[in-house]
Amino acid sequence: MSAGVVVVGAGQAGFQLAASLREAGYADPITLLGDEPDLPYQRPPLSKAYLAGRTDAAGLELRPAAYFSDHRIHHRASMRVEAIDRAGRRVLCAGGAVVAYDHLVLATGARNRALPVPGAGLPGVFQLRGRADADALKAALAGTRSVAIVGAGFIGLEFAGICAARGHSVTVLEAAERPMARAVSAETASFFTRAHGEAGIRFVFGAGVTAIVGEGRAEAVRLRDGTSLAADLVLVGIGVVPNQELAEAAGLAVGDGIRVDAFLATDDPAISAIGDCARAPSRFAEGAPIRIESVQNALDQGRCLAARLTGRPAAYDAVPWFWSDQGPHKLQIAGLSTPSDASVARSMSAGLCVFRFREGRLSAVETVDRPGDHMAARRILAQGRALSPAEAADPAFDLKALATAR
Ligand code: FAD
Ligand code: NAP
Repeated sequence: MSAGVVVVGAGQAGFQLAASLREAGYADPITLLGDEPDLPYQRPPLSKAYLAGRTDAAGLELRPAAYFSDHRIHHRASMRVEAIDRAGRRVLCAGGAVVAYDHLVLATGARNRALPVPGAGLPGVFQLRGRADADALKAALAGTRSVAIVGAGFIGLEFAGICAARGHSVTVLEAAERPMARAVSAETASFFTRAHGEAGIRFVFGAGVTAIVGEGRAEAVRLRDGTSLAADLVLVGIGVVPNQELAEAAGLAVGDGIRVDAFLATDDPAISAIGDCARAPSRFAEGAPIRIESVQNALDQGRCLAARLTGRPAAYDAVPWFWSDQGPHKLQIAGLSTPSDASVARSMSAGLCVFRFREGRLSAVETVDRPGDHMAARRILAQGRALSPAEAADPAFDLKALATAR
């Protein structure tokens, strides 16, 4: 009997692969091995609706339990894979279970980077990656007055927005000179610095956190300049590292992610990798291998790999896009920019639209509260349509018309 496809990691990418395989008519066994106790769930609401109490655990689930039995997707929760036996085509799990595969998919995601300072392990210091983290944070927030957030990235700013709306005193400590420095332009960063500031959130840029101090629990964050910031709760959101150790120990190529080709195959033809843990070549980075941490990437790579495994191979070529809900604002980004890309901001009566250019070619479009412009930008980038910086700057230039022109 065929061993079918075995997926390590029952998150956004692993689940999507399993679902897309069944949609494409794949008939052999599919086994989804995940080390979390839950049914596969989505992470974005953890720093948004779930944390704010607007949805519950069931609202996070990607599908209800019946879906898995109906589609013959064998989901094994709390099952950590510890090693890959490539020669024997099987994986070895904690507790001794052994699972054979015809094709193995690594969808192990990423884990939060630890803050390397004394006191980072004190009670009252939190991170946010999984549902258990969100539950612990929610419970702790109930008795909290002042919150310090280390890192003005997506997690830090979404959390800051929620805390400010709940009336907590919030300070964000960021090592760089502006928020989301790698991900967005100076114009977008300054829009959010201002908007969060108006909501009462304080920022310390260029902050060097040297310790978290307190008697038995976090009470203050100490900075390199000798000052201390009192805080009842500290959230650390300073980026992630890919879960690549399983692949590395099995002798697969890794380097800030599991290295895959344009078809998402590792250097072993029986093993592929998708999602946050995978590093794949991208035309949006001039063919260089990149690792993207987003729901879109997890979903589209899952679909792309399912197509290959069911006989319709195609190189992964989806336009990267993502969103972030911060306070009352929705940031959306289509494409991929680097910090050195030029910026052209269009003047707007509401929201924001910033076009990024690399060597004169459109690389990304950042919008705030402008979903129509975001959708148009995705189409323009997907089709590789030319847009000049002058057209980008002209409020009368119709993006939608360019996106939909034949
Ligand atoms: P994951 O969803 O992390 O799944 C990987 C799974 O593999 C995990 O369950 C992990 O525990 C498991 N695993 C790892 N190693 C093993 C092993 N050895 N054995 C068994 N299981 C293992 N993206 C957006 O685009 N928009 C957003 O608004 C957004 N908000 C976010 C908010 C939060 C709080 C977080 C944490 C992330 C957010 N993201 C957002 C990012 C997005 O959730 C990730 O990019 C996406 O989940 C990646 O999917 P994945 O399947 O690659 O990884
Ligand atoms: P992130 O977006 O990479 O941001 C981390 C921020 O922390 C960066 O600005 C980083 O600056 C800064 N930083 C790094 N080390 C620091 C230090 N020692 N002190 C102070 N600041 C420091 O990562 P994240 O916000 O932690 O998010 C984690 C993961 O969740 C990512 O995969 C992210 O994509 C995902 N997520 C996504 C969304 C979304 O898309 N809406 C929402 C939440 C979470 P440098 O860049 O200069 O290092």
